[in-house]
Amino acid sequence: MRDSIVMPRRQTRKIMVGDVAVGGDAPIAVQSMTNTLTTDIDATVAQVHSLEEAGADIVRISVPDVESAAAMPEILAQTQVPIIADIHFSYKMALLALDAGVHGLRLNPGNIGSQDRVERVVKAAQEKNVSIRIGVNAGSLEKEFNEQYGEPCADAMVASALRHIRILEDMNFKDIKVSLKASNIPMTVAAYRKLAEKVDYPFHLGITESGSLFGGTVKSSVGLGLILADGIGDTIRVSLAAEPKEEIKVGFEILKSLGLRHRGVNLIACPSCARQKFNVIEVVQELEIRLAHIQEPMDVAVIGCVVNGPGEAQEVQVGITGGYPTHTFYHDGEKFGRVKSSNMIDALVDEVEKRAAVMRTETELSGKI
Ligand code: SF4
Repeated sequence: MRDSIVMPRRQTRKIMVGDVAVGGDAPIAVQSMTNTLTTDIDATVAQVHSLEEAGADIVRISVPDVESAAAMPEILAQTQVPIIADIHFSYKMALLALDAGVHGLRLNPGNIGSQDRVERVVKAAQEKNVSIRIGVNAGSLEKEFNEQYGEPCADAMVASALRHIRILEDMNFKDIKVSLKASNIPMTVAAYRKLAEKVDYPFHLGITESGSLFGGTVKSSVGLGLILADGIGDTIRVSLAAEPKEEIKVGFEILKSLGLRHRGVNLIACPSCARQKFNVIEVVQELEIRLAHIQEPMDVAVIGCVVNGPGEAQEVQVGITGGYPTHTFYHDGEKFGRVKSSNMIDALVDEVEKRAAVMRTETELSGKI
């Protein structure tokens, strides 16, 4: 058993987004958002499907206008994963989205107008058992909090979240989750830590506008990693200026790296050096592509030479260590045989697929799916 540096999970209220539980003892859900025009039903459905294939537990879709709301019933009819409607300012869009059958709303009740309008939305959400995410963003804090605190900061974000929470609580609505997003990592981390001391609602974690696939992955990994290591976080969304399914892949990698959730192959590879007995980088790149469809959790080690190979192979289900003229194949930490460079990748893929198929069958037989 590997050591864990993650604090015990914060105890939160469990809420539902469709059939996916968020909070309590539920696995940390990984979500993303479509970037197609919602009115383009075919493109949006295709993107939701690609997110589902990548493992998304929840998908969010913007509903900015009446035409987008009108597309939602068809999108919902053609998809399986729970869908959250992203609403800004308009109670009408919220009501239309609820009528369409969405499984969750992302809206800030303080931003949708009069008490009467808020009540109509909250009542409709209550009737349909739809949860609401309050999404505080440092870039769009209410004027009163920016004035009170002088500038966007963690305390201002927490104050804004508490204001929105109070509005819902006053209507006896508690199926709430909360996000506190900023592009500034220390501010984001501080905001989540502070709010965690005040409420027991589940948190949706994210570092907003984090950037490109490369830069955004680094920022999100550091920011979300710090918060998750505190035991805080019930669902995550990695925001990247990239294909949405990349957000899901990065999200799972972050959770895998902290031992919080396991899905698919966890590739362990050495950085390679002059001692490598095969081209580690090329092999790993090809394996990433050829093993992307595996959903069952499995550790696979690809190590260039005997300096670290045998040690790493002991910790994984499938391993390869570079040698000369052939490489050593390991199964469950034991030497299994030797393979040539020419068929090493095929042998690794075959073994992983075989094991994944067995795991799938066992899971099906035990009735867990
Ligand atoms: S395991 Fe071998 S090839 Fe890989 S980095 Fe270490 S010494 Fe180099």
